Amino acid sequence: MYFDSTILWVIPGLLLGLWAQARVKSAYAKYSKYTTRAGVTAENAVARLLQQQGAGDVAIQQTNGTLTDHYDPSSNTLRLSQGVYGSSSIAALGIAAHEAGHALQKAQNYPFLALRSIMVPVVNIGSNLAWPIFLAGILFSFEALMYVGIIAFAMVVLFSLVTLPVEFDASRRAVAMLNAGGFLTQEEETGVKKVLNAAALTYVASFVSALLQLVRLLSILNRHRD
Ligand SMILES: [Zn+2]
Repeated sequence: MYFDSTILWVIPGLLLGLWAQARVKSAYAKYSKYTTRAGVTAENAVARLLQQQGAGDVAIQQTNGTLTDHYDPSSNTLRLSQGVYGSSSIAALGIAAHEAGHALQKAQNYPFLALRSIMVPVVNIGSNLAWPIFLAGILFSFEALMYVGIIAFAMVVLFSLVTLPVEFDASRRAVAMLNAGGFLTQEEETGVKKVLNAAALTYVASFVSALLQLVRLLSILNRHRD
């Protein structure tokens, strides 16, 4: 039986991703049990913080699910999940402030966020078509198609690379804002950082994963040319 050994390239990325997910879950489970001493709910805290930063026009809503928190730049809306909205836990404040960090990036035209937004439509096409184009190239022994598939996938890799500064910056803003607002004790700040670092790790894992998939495509191309 033919075994495609290039699949071994993607396994470390997969494992790193699973490990990062597990860390997020455990940090979230742990720090959603600790109520902050200030006792302000996540949505009230970020509403105040955004107001202070001159971004009081951001809408704040509750959304279904767990860890589904996100900032939607098109409607300038911050959506907080059920476990975050209404909660004054360390995890809730950290997550809400991180999303508020994205809202601030938008308000202040943070360049990597702008770049990321420009890339979204191209990357959506690239991520859907990269493999089919590449496989068609193998099937028809048409090398140019294989290159097109690889370039399309390289866009996906670039996108997950650009995502990293956006995510790190949002977390940095989150901690700074919460501190400036007096919402955290020193001990609570450590907890917020643990939750946000675990979340950041999932983005690092996505990038490593994408990069290794690109290496896999290149090694298939290389083998095909021999
Ligand atoms: Zn984020």
